Amino acid sequence: MGGPVHGAPVGRAASVGRSSSGAARYGGLMPVSIGAMKNDELIDRAESVLNRKTVNGRLHGDVGAALLSGKGDIYAGVCVDTPGWGLCAERSAIAAMITAGEYTVRTIVAVWREDKAIDPNGKLHILPPCGYCRQFMRDINDDNLGTDVVLDRNKVIKLKDLLPHHEWPEPLDRR
Ligand SMILES: [Zn+2]
Repeated sequence: MGGPVHGAPVGRAASVGRSSSGAARYGGLMPVSIGAMKNDELIDRAESVLNRKTVNGRLHGDVGAALLSGKGDIYAGVCVDTPGWGLCAERSAIAAMITAGEYTVRTIVAVWREDKAIDPNGKLHILPPCGYCRQFMRDINDDNLGTDVVLDRNKVIKLKDLLPHHEWPEPLDRR
């Protein structure tokens, strides 16, 4: 064997189960508030899988994503760019999570850094999830409407706020 085990969690979040202040736990799971420390940890995990490579003229791995699952595991993935079908890093990480039998995303982040050949001092950027990824998370599990999407080191927004008007509508005729 050897090498990476695809589909397995890449780690367990060190900060899960305790708040940054060491205050009370909430049901043994995670603090209600999202501390900057945990965001930074996820951002670091997303950055760690960046693996920019051009193959057959298509650039893969220039966006990396990491997510914290409902069980407190961290899954990561990179974008895959094919002509017929592109896979965002977020969906790549979510596929790894589902491979491991988990379906709830607590927190997710995606990052991108400019090619060092273009900008040796390229800064890391956090990318908001595209529309496909927003719908993907929602369709996998209604609970993911409560997913915290990291938009900056100290800024998160719930998926439901990034995906308004997602409810199945009432019929027009109510007779
Ligand atoms: Zn996407």
